[in-house]
Amino acid sequence: MKNRHHIRAVLFDLDGVIVHTDRFHQAGWQQLADEEGWKFSEARAHSLRGVSRMEALDTILADNGLQAASDADKVKWADRKNSYYKNFVKDIGQSEVIPGSVAFVRELRSRGVLTALCSASKNAPDILRLLQLEDLFDTVVCGHDTTRSKPDPQVFELAAERLGVPAFHCVVFEDAPTGVEAAKRAGMKCVGVGDREGLPEAPSLIARYSEIDIEALLDSGRPFRPEPHGWELIEGDFRPTRALFWETMLAVTNGAFGVRGNLEEENEGVSSYPATLMNGIVGYVPYHYLWAFPGYPHRGHTFLNVCEWTRVRLEVDGERFSMTHSGPSEHRRGLNLRSGTVFRQWKFKTESGVEVSVKTTRIASMERRHLAALCYEVSVSAPCQVVLESETDAAPFSRMFNGRGIEVRALQRDGDFLLANQISTTSEQSMTTGIREIVSEGDRRVQCEVAIEGDVCKTRYRIDAEPGGSVRLEKTAVFCTEIEQPDADLAETVKLLLSEAPACQELFAEHSRWWERYWSVADIEIDGDPLDQLGIRLSLFHNRQSNPEDGYRSIGANGQTGDNYSGHVFWDTEQYILVPYLYSEPATVRGLLEYRYRILDKAREQARLMQSCGAEYSWNSITGEECGHVFEAAQGQVHLQCDIAWAIDRYVRTTGDAEFMHDMGAEIIFETARYLRDRGAFSPYKNNQFVFNAVCGANEYSCGVDNNATTNYMAQWHFLRAYDLFTSMQRDAPDKMEKLLSRIKLTNEEVEGWRAAGEAMYLPYSKEMGIVPQDDNFLGRDPVDMSKIPFHTDVRTLVHPLNLWRMQLIKQADTVFLMFLMSEKFDEETIRRTYEFHEARTNHGSSLSAAVHCIVAAQIGKHDDAYHFFRESALMDINDLKGNTAGGMHSACLGGTWMAVVNGFAGMRDDSRGLSFQPRLPKDWARLSFQLVWNGTRIGVEILSDKAVYRHLDGPGIEFLHRDDQVVLEPETTRELGI
Ligand code: BGC
Repeated sequence: MKNRHHIRAVLFDLDGVIVHTDRFHQAGWQQLADEEGWKFSEARAHSLRGVSRMEALDTILADNGLQAASDADKVKWADRKNSYYKNFVKDIGQSEVIPGSVAFVRELRSRGVLTALCSASKNAPDILRLLQLEDLFDTVVCGHDTTRSKPDPQVFELAAERLGVPAFHCVVFEDAPTGVEAAKRAGMKCVGVGDREGLPEAPSLIARYSEIDIEALLDSGRPFRPEPHGWELIEGDFRPTRALFWETMLAVTNGAFGVRGNLEEENEGVSSYPATLMNGIVGYVPYHYLWAFPGYPHRGHTFLNVCEWTRVRLEVDGERFSMTHSGPSEHRRGLNLRSGTVFRQWKFKTESGVEVSVKTTRIASMERRHLAALCYEVSVSAPCQVVLESETDAAPFSRMFNGRGIEVRALQRDGDFLLANQISTTSEQSMTTGIREIVSEGDRRVQCEVAIEGDVCKTRYRIDAEPGGSVRLEKTAVFCTEIEQPDADLAETVKLLLSEAPACQELFAEHSRWWERYWSVADIEIDGDPLDQLGIRLSLFHNRQSNPEDGYRSIGANGQTGDNYSGHVFWDTEQYILVPYLYSEPATVRGLLEYRYRILDKAREQARLMQSCGAEYSWNSITGEECGHVFEAAQGQVHLQCDIAWAIDRYVRTTGDAEFMHDMGAEIIFETARYLRDRGAFSPYKNNQFVFNAVCGANEYSCGVDNNATTNYMAQWHFLRAYDLFTSMQRDAPDKMEKLLSRIKLTNEEVEGWRAAGEAMYLPYSKEMGIVPQDDNFLGRDPVDMSKIPFHTDVRTLVHPLNLWRMQLIKQADTVFLMFLMSEKFDEETIRRTYEFHEARTNHGSSLSAAVHCIVAAQIGKHDDAYHFFRESALMDINDLKGNTAGGMHSACLGGTWMAVVNGFAGMRDDSRGLSFQPRLPKDWARLSFQLVWNGTRIGVEILSDKAVYRHLDGPGIEFLHRDDQVVLEPETTRELGI
């Protein structure tokens, strides 16, 4: 298998990273300064680290008012310093080598990682020679090779070029701020060697080489990653530069809204986006074009941060707590996956000598989808004054809206509650937020001072605290919107929900019971690397908590954990996110499909805007209005219409919910079939076969292509399914059918037209190569040297579209996706060849790619590839592989990880042959176990290295294929079969 590490080259600075030659430089400058009578300090010596000799001299001269010195003098001084330095450095010995550095470089090389030494010093090669380390690096770039010194990125760029590795796959180790800046400018990842004070801008820091988790470094470019702790995801050490990342990982959501996992207090120098993102409440953002062509979207929309209510400030004896200034100890934050709660605890000591312990817990309730709760508990070691200040901002900043998207119509206290009547400024959707706060010390309720200023309410509680007990702030927030309650008096509903809500402890308990029920049917157990177990559970957790189940909303590409994708719903929902629901709790899929039905009129409008008929769902949208201004990769993805129909069909097949099909599903399938029929054409130049020209498959690097294979196969299925449905519904639900037909004015001729198009569909195939090619043009495109292409990144931001479209380069599983989705249509050799051809040209620039590659690799027996892709998918966010987890979890990838396990390693398929399994356990796993619901029957599947065990758990008996054998599993029986 090829070396697939994300990090392919590690570039090291010399001084302070591999060896300590600083003291020799300092001594050299000091001798020169002493002889010339210049001032020169240790601090100045420190600031010159990583700076070239001439620049360092200029700085020292400026310190001494000698800027005007002649060039000839400068050269003499610099040479003198260098000769002093060389004299001193002769004494360099092993004691100057930074402990662990050499062994670390050797370890990297033994793993096939390329290494470079990148130093501003012209003496770097001599130093390596003196230390007998000439062979340590693959290349050495020193002051002789460069013309510009750091922070100019030249030294790193040159090293990457010599190693032949794109910047994206390099990580730099640096001890100087100028070097950190240079790495950033080179577009490389960077690990600082030193402390935060000396390297405030370093994305991550180590003090010692022994701290590095080398696997994490090679996977992600960061020296650490969250450690597995059973059912808990723990932050471990707090790192200010990772605060936004943790806000995403620790976000609690429930489909209706999401609360990011910010620290409760403000902390100087720590970036934070403490948002409560409301699914469906949007702000419009105008698009500006020089030329707006017909059908171009004229505005986009983004979901909004509707309230910042988690802010709590703590003062003890007049001292305000902060992570930056209070020196907290035992700080620990995490997500308890089993109970669905986020917790935080820490201690600190005040100047008055009081030891303070704080504990916070929060949830977005899955039991009460309007409600979130935060409990903040303080206990103290000695009598003291505790002040808690809680803040609610009802019109906060929304990042993707770039401003405040909410206007507060009224903010008032109503008895114990704070009520905010809000409206989104541009879309004019109304909502109400209600907050209940109870502060108590033991049994005693504490009174507050309230200050409302503009849209912000601050409540202050002063408590004379005693040791032994604890002060508790319980904050309960309720959000109701016109989306799910169009006709309700929102303020009254909010008040009712708040007054019915029990205290935090009970809210947490019922929420945990909810999660317990979920895990009892949906957990996946892996006996193998604990990280694999954590990866799948974290995926299941975030996947499940994003499902609103209310029929009004769907799930955006980051769920509600962040707004990188503005809350937009893509094909991700139908082809990735809802797949685990389908086979664990199929009833929970219905709401997501109802949402599509609710926006069907918008899809009709969209089709009209495209001068077509029927209905065309928007590629990325919340309200149904198209936001995809990169139209060639947005509306170009015609397959979305089929993805939605496919999900409807699968949902109805597994639940038997014919009512949904007759009331809503059929209308969606017919209207989108109409659009598809109009979007394609019978082509006289292709033997009158039906073609789709100027489309885009899932591979967004290939736009405007003819006959994307996945699109054509799916459209064929769509036409024939629509035709069959027309016939079966006339038979099964004639009344509903009659009404539907008169409502959408569908004729027999149209339906016949679908059948004709389906039957005559042109399906790309290359006889010479024995593969299904991505599209009509792909094989002839410009070949690409993949070693020059950065992986795991969307290269559309790096290459002009006209250059990209002519490249034989693939962003994500597209034809490989087809090999999975319709695997029964292809023989194994075709699948293997098609996978090999396309995978070799794929840079996995989308998080949707890895899981599907895992599935197909597993099917064709490429076990190492399969496991590699599983890890990439399962650890996508844990490793922050794409570097943008701070803006939200990758929701499709979460669903994809379930698919990698169940469709990949268990080889599960659900197609015209029924249910089937082709189990193959990764070699590092001893056991895999999960449950599955299929046509009303729940079974347990356990896979060991040599056998699969199928247990009937619930519902009627079931038949399925295990490899090529037909298996009958009667109620309450177990079958053990060899693999
Ligand atoms: C992918 C799409 C996906 C979208 C949202 C893009 O980068 O290419 O397939 O729908 O992200 O996740």
